[in-house]
Amino acid sequence: MKIFNLRKPKIRRHVFLLATLAIALLFTSPRAQQSGPASDDRVALYQALLDLQNPWTVMCVAAHPDDEDGTSLIVMRRKFGAHTVSLFSTFGEGGQNAIGPELYEEMGAIRARETMAAAEIQGSEPHFLGLKDFGFSKTRDEAFKFWGHEEGLRRMVLEIRKLRPDVIITNHSTASNDHGQHQATALMVVEAFDAAADPNKFPEQLKDGVTTWQVQRLFVRMRGNAAANDSTSIITIDPNEKDPVRGVVYAEEALRALQQHATQGPWPKTFAEYANRFRAFSGQQGGTPGQLPMIRYALVREAKGVAALSAKESHNFLDGMRLIDSAGKEIVLPDIRDSIMKLADDRTGAIASFMKLELSRVSDSTMSQIADIQRRQMMRQKLERATALVAGLNFKLQPSSNPVIPNSTANVTVSVENSGRDPIDALECGASPALAQQSPSVIDRRVNHATATRVAPGAVVTVNDNFQIPANAMINVPLSRHLYEPNGLGMALTTRCTYELSGKRVGIDLPITVDVAPRVEIVKVTPNPAPVKPNQPTDRSARIQVPFEVALINHQSVPFNGRLAALSATFGNPINDMPLKLAPGEKRTVKFLVEGPVQPIKNESITFLVQDAKWSSPLTDVATFAPGARVAPSLSVGYVRGFDFSLPNALNALGVESKELSVEDIKTADLSKYTSVIVDNRVYESKPELITVNQKLLDYAQAGGTLIVFYHKSDEWNPDPRRNRPQLAPYKLILGGERVTDENAPITFLEPDHPLLNSPNKMGQDDFKNWIQERGLYYPREWDPQFHALLQSNDPGEAPLKGGLLVADYGKGHYIYTSMVWYRELRGGVPGAYRMLANMISYGRN
Ligand SMILES: [Zn+2]
Repeated sequence: MKIFNLRKPKIRRHVFLLATLAIALLFTSPRAQQSGPASDDRVALYQALLDLQNPWTVMCVAAHPDDEDGTSLIVMRRKFGAHTVSLFSTFGEGGQNAIGPELYEEMGAIRARETMAAAEIQGSEPHFLGLKDFGFSKTRDEAFKFWGHEEGLRRMVLEIRKLRPDVIITNHSTASNDHGQHQATALMVVEAFDAAADPNKFPEQLKDGVTTWQVQRLFVRMRGNAAANDSTSIITIDPNEKDPVRGVVYAEEALRALQQHATQGPWPKTFAEYANRFRAFSGQQGGTPGQLPMIRYALVREAKGVAALSAKESHNFLDGMRLIDSAGKEIVLPDIRDSIMKLADDRTGAIASFMKLELSRVSDSTMSQIADIQRRQMMRQKLERATALVAGLNFKLQPSSNPVIPNSTANVTVSVENSGRDPIDALECGASPALAQQSPSVIDRRVNHATATRVAPGAVVTVNDNFQIPANAMINVPLSRHLYEPNGLGMALTTRCTYELSGKRVGIDLPITVDVAPRVEIVKVTPNPAPVKPNQPTDRSARIQVPFEVALINHQSVPFNGRLAALSATFGNPINDMPLKLAPGEKRTVKFLVEGPVQPIKNESITFLVQDAKWSSPLTDVATFAPGARVAPSLSVGYVRGFDFSLPNALNALGVESKELSVEDIKTADLSKYTSVIVDNRVYESKPELITVNQKLLDYAQAGGTLIVFYHKSDEWNPDPRRNRPQLAPYKLILGGERVTDENAPITFLEPDHPLLNSPNKMGQDDFKNWIQERGLYYPREWDPQFHALLQSNDPGEAPLKGGLLVADYGKGHYIYTSMVWYRELRGGVPGAYRMLANMISYGRN
């Protein structure tokens, strides 16, 4: 028996009577209501009433942002009313940024926000394990080497014990051999299913309300047309189904959520484009063009004694599940959507009907029979949200400032709009004892019950509340520096409002998350890395001067009067120190000269610090020095920049004259004044107009210049007549999909005497030590014999790849294509990357 029956809601006798009356007196038939999209108010009310029917939580586990199954999350929430959460192993910070210069933690911070925006559309709640995304890997062992298998499992078990999902679904299968982090996540989900329920596993977690938790069912997504074992139970979700209330296909909403993951784009713009791309990608056969294939999941694990799925193939992960009270009676929440929705425009009637049905039956009897306190709390919150919507009340909570700073009072404003027909009375907002108990250590609430207020129909009333932010509040600004910390995504605050409705006192929780900033934030230090000019004197007594610019924000509402200092072990502490005065809220960039000996500077870094008599910034920024490398004299480099600034920063750090070129510059400027021109990572993709002027670049090389092209993806590079893309290199050069993901993979010098590897810097094995993340991506698969292949590398157990660094003479000049990830290494200050870049831009000039 199902707890909720959605096609034909079971209407209890008295609801039925009421409904009949309603039809006679008021309005439209249910069919007419479903003919077009409903207003936002009606949609919200409908959803809140639906949520009330479903006491279950469905969790989707994913390795990275955008790996979640948005469609199934949306269907479970919007069609069935389940509470839905998504849990991500990482922030996806190891990937490539399709829209901006940020990488690593800075991109992780953006992806966390993108994931929240996507979750908002999905109607789900995102959570993160905060494991490091170290980039693509081919095996789960490599992922566990970085994460720690036990540590990853510990975190996942803790989240499951806290969030208490009844069902877990995941796109990641232990049987697949895709991304190593997907494989590792797939294994952890299976292990956590049992471990979360086992009191002997991670017993230290079992305190402060955290208990063991038994997930009922685990489903893993099936790939393509994979056939199911005869005994396997299958859930199919139809992504093409239309949401009758909103008038859109569920997967269309999922696409809108996917589009929020902008750093991972570009995404399809239309549903048809999405459907066709997905079909091509998944290799799924059959079905209707312009429609997505069915989503299929296999049941891979279930708890002992859990209700069986009602059929071998059903369409709801929760199918057959029942909540049983202590007396062995099934608790069925009544479905009152029909009756309430019919009364929705007659708020007075709706309130009367709702209060009678819900508050008495659900809150008092059914709810109290739910032994699981968290589930009862979740249902209480659902009930309170529904009550406010039935009454036509819109509650909004806003902080007066965000971020807040430690040891301060944060003011918030609650605005209540009454679009119903009846006034509400005695509105009070502030701390409740229950809330104070929830997080006594984090928030010291100064109770501030506003004067009891009446909100008349049509009125908007605002009331104030405030929070005392403790002195030891965890700082999370800027997010990129606090991504992996427990409160990295901010501090949760909740105001509780209560009010009188139809003579009964009801309440609602209003949660909000605020960022916590230091009093004075060091936003950025430039240049970073700082240059070590070529041909520096090697005399140990020689000194170097670097003018830095330090960008600061005073987050306080009072002036700051203190000092800015730079610290460095080698330079002597402090190197320098200057007075700093900032007005309340002021943003300013100050100049700061650092002077020190040249010699120890190679692996040096400088830490910047803001302080006054009472306080020293817990946050500091670090500037590192670029490793020195020799370059040929009188170089002038033009470059078309890719998504980040690693190339211009590195050229600057090498002390080379350089200029950023737009596509228009390439078209019109005299390129012969540049000794080399660099096409940065993936520029033919990000600036496709460059393809139309590519001949100008080739002519430049032919006339004596050195044209250097950094890595591109194969589908952004290979000749494709449909996209009007010719061969972009002067000779045949076809990219494949192979990568070398092990950053320690051995490098073999295929032509050790080639000038590109010897001048002005003699490259050796040391130059390939301490690399970051990987060696290279989308290695060339085929190339013309004119090219010299200089380096060979491969992941363990795989065939050698020889195309990482290709160089050819072309006319009087030269052409270099390299699929190695120089940008990551330049950013990370890897000396070999600076030396190799120096050789590339010096090539042909020695
Ligand atoms: Zn992924």
